[in-house]
Amino acid sequence: MHKVIIIGSGPAGLTAAIYAARANLKPLVFEGVQPGGQLTITTDVENYPGFPKGILGPELMDKFRKQAQEFGAETLFENVDKVDFSSKPFKLHVGDKEYEAESVIISTGASAKLLGLESESKLMGFGVSACATCDGFFFKEKDILVVGGGDSAMEEATYLTKFASSVTIVHRRDEFRASKIMQDRALNNPKISVMWNSEIVEMYGDPKDKGLESVDIRNLQSGEIVRHNTDGVFMAIGHKPNSDLFKNQLSLNESGYIITEADSTVTSKKGIFAAGDIQDFTYKQAITAAGSGCMAAIEAERFLEGH
Ligand code: NAP
Repeated sequence: MHKVIIIGSGPAGLTAAIYAARANLKPLVFEGVQPGGQLTITTDVENYPGFPKGILGPELMDKFRKQAQEFGAETLFENVDKVDFSSKPFKLHVGDKEYEAESVIISTGASAKLLGLESESKLMGFGVSACATCDGFFFKEKDILVVGGGDSAMEEATYLTKFASSVTIVHRRDEFRASKIMQDRALNNPKISVMWNSEIVEMYGDPKDKGLESVDIRNLQSGEIVRHNTDGVFMAIGHKPNSDLFKNQLSLNESGYIITEADSTVTSKKGIFAAGDIQDFTYKQAITAAGSGCMAAIEAERFLEGH
């Protein structure tokens, strides 16, 4: 029986682990399929406070993990397969083992949707990015592409014009699904142009050399494939919260994010808390995830004291 089990090991989960461990709750962390979370697929992180020269994403997450372990958190490279929150103690299944917990902090994050090309994953962090706020700064005076036609694509394209010389939105249809105001903002920006009815079918570059250098783009009406030189590709085709495990156990919104009470990490089930990108579809930053991980640990501690 554990006082607190934490599912997920990005900035939210490991910050929750640091706070819970320092509160003597001996947390157990299941690190999940991507130990360290989304930051492990980025290279330089320059906007995490405390690292004026920046730090590599995987290194930052190693430091989070070590800090949690330092105070007694136990971390396991295991994936939770099933949960049962219907009665107390809460039950978590990992393979054929069952764990019991008085409280659970969920920090399973969200995954950026990607095209699924092998070259895309090879060049992720080397010219290919899924986060303009994180990586835009590295594309000063560069020519870049943004993929997608929703609000995120409009927002990211507009944001990236602060740095890039030109931004081309590559969209698979002949109209955007983004709200009118966001579309207008992007389309009225002189640095932004659009390639309609188009999709990226291949990416070229060497992660050990210059990174991404060009992409093949297919026109979906004519079928013609043309190679374009580019310095960067930003994927903005949506995110998927990693919440499949919690369907029918907790209240989720229509997009699958766990619903938490305002200004809190309290979910629809007492004793279960959610922190980071699994409940935040607005900010999606390491620092905000870490902040909500801290909140979750404090709220779990108060919950346990009250019971
Ligand atoms: P989204 O609305 O689901 O849009 C995803 C876009 O990516 C769509 O245009 C879609 O094309 C395209 N797409 C999806 N899969 C693709 C693929 N495999 N290849 C090429 N293109 C693909 O996602 P989002 O833009 O991230 O927005 C998510 C939610 O957050 C929305 O409700 C949005 O309004 C909200 N949001 C709001 C703001 C804001 O108000 N400031 C900012 C960002 C997001 P199709 O159109 O052809 O399906």
